[in-house]
Amino acid sequence: MVPDRRIDGILEDYDKDELVIATLCSHSSLQIFHGAKKLGFRTMGITVTQDTKHYDAFPLARPDEFVQLSSYDEMLDKADFFVENNVIIIPHGSFVEYLGPKKFERMDVPSFGNRKVLAWESDRDKEREWLTSAGVSMPEIVNDAEHIDRPVLVKYHGAKGGRGFFIAKDHNDFKLGIEHNVPYTMQEYVLGTRYYLHFFYSPIVKEGYHAGDGTIEMLSIDRRDESNIDEMYKLGAQEELKKHQLYPSFVVTGNVPVVIRESLLPKAFEMAERIVNRSIELFGGMVGPFCLESIVTDKLEFKVFEISSRIVAGTNPFINGSPYSEMIHPGMSTGMRIAKEIQMARDMDALDLILS
Ligand code: AMP
Repeated sequence: MVPDRRIDGILEDYDKDELVIATLCSHSSLQIFHGAKKLGFRTMGITVTQDTKHYDAFPLARPDEFVQLSSYDEMLDKADFFVENNVIIIPHGSFVEYLGPKKFERMDVPSFGNRKVLAWESDRDKEREWLTSAGVSMPEIVNDAEHIDRPVLVKYHGAKGGRGFFIAKDHNDFKLGIEHNVPYTMQEYVLGTRYYLHFFYSPIVKEGYHAGDGTIEMLSIDRRDESNIDEMYKLGAQEELKKHQLYPSFVVTGNVPVVIRESLLPKAFEMAERIVNRSIELFGGMVGPFCLESIVTDKLEFKVFEISSRIVAGTNPFINGSPYSEMIHPGMSTGMRIAKEIQMARDMDALDLILS
């Protein structure tokens, strides 16, 4: 992990009037560039294998410059170049996944948010410890495959985006689906509606819904379309489907905007507040966007199955704002909110509070 004082030292030498917002050209980069440009920042798109021609189709989100690298590792080798250009890296889901959390932790360039969150987020056991010790309800872990007494979801370690997960209703199902020698965990399959709640924690904004030293904003909510699982019910019972080698997959294919029942909002904020407060106790606090990936049951209870502590692609339907951000900062996306936080912290001489 790059020590905080090293990043603080780098920031001292930055020309604060020439900050450049940079990210990898993928995931939510259009939204990040669009928001940064709207606030007058220069922007830099980093590419490795990504195409860039489609950015020409979106002039208001096209970064001011592209930097082509030959590999993800080169991001670390080019740290001096980024620092000379006053770059602030905005990590998004694909950025961290492609570079790798360990390498991202070592990258010697100021980055939005607190990188200490990675150790707590990328390990499923530590993530569970963080959320449950904050008093947030999660799907229960099921350990004994021979005595499965309710539907469970089998998650292979390192599986990305739901690929390779499967549902087992009993031991037989489990035996049919399990791949031997691949480590997995099992948890109860929660029946309900999936909602992905997009929050933003600011340690520097003091007016609003208080948590920690700052405030929490709810910027938007989405639900994901998931490849064939969302549609499979049309084909009938799963046992029958398996005979035809048809297995459900949770691979994400798109995102749909959602507004939840107004009476669920107090519970949603209370969870977010507890998670922020606990993050401060455990590792100094997460900063900026975070997403609670949750299921709401018919008892109107939230179960959180995952947290993502950076901008998620589910915020992409809201480039021109959401029903929630309309009541805080009209027309503002999560990408633009990140740029605004950087702008405010720069003007308050408090960049060290939001970068690491
Ligand atoms: P994850 O990789 O943990 O984000 O999960 C991928 C997908 O699996 C989610 O988007 C949900 O559709 C589904 N999922 C994960 N955990 C559960 C659970 N405990 N119960 C029901 N569905 C789940």
